[in-house]
Amino acid sequence: MARYTDAVCRLCRREGIKLFLKGTKCFSDKCPIEKRNFAPGQHGKDRKTKVVGYGLQLREKQKAKRIYFTQEGQFRNYFENAVKSKGVTGAKLLESLERRLDNVVYRLGFGISRRQARQLVRHGHVQVNGKKVNIPSYEVSVGEEVQIRESSRKVPILETAREFASHQPAPAWLEIDRENYKGRVSALPKREDIQLPVNEQLIVELYSK
Ligand code: SF4
Repeated sequence: MARYTDAVCRLCRREGIKLFLKGTKCFSDKCPIEKRNFAPGQHGKDRKTKVVGYGLQLREKQKAKRIYFTQEGQFRNYFENAVKSKGVTGAKLLESLERRLDNVVYRLGFGISRRQARQLVRHGHVQVNGKKVNIPSYEVSVGEEVQIRESSRKVPILETAREFASHQPAPAWLEIDRENYKGRVSALPKREDIQLPVNEQLIVELYSK
């Protein structure tokens, strides 16, 4: 399945809530959800049906998939691995998604959005335990250190991101050293540490049919 390349704000409008895909714009009054909070497209405004049952489960899955910019097959693999691991499936699913390298870079405050963090990873600006890793889906483990390569610290977006992140609460499961452009995963993210507008139980129900 091809990667989504259309305007990402349409995704928020489709879900009817802010998914925070664009960084600073999401916190400003330029956010389309503030002005046009109805589904995109010609008939978007007329869609008034209440979503229940399967539709609701599907929407929760789409939200999570869109927040982390994963594709369908990849998202399903996350779910299947969550089923095999010990613990509550929904929480395990979100834990794996949070441990993606692009998300960790975003949570550390080196990108204003997950998309921008993904780009930093893809372009080889990120190291894990001192080695370059350019795979956004790389799952970071407890104890691993993530940092921006020394030669990449002049990338202009980093300054904006660091300024933006300084106003955001730091996640409890990460130790952040913004001065030195690095951070460490100190624990596995717990469900209460993951502030997301997603009901993961509905995703479990959807895939368990
Ligand atoms: Fe979503 Fe951010 Fe666009 Fe608002 S600005 S619609 S929150 S991506």
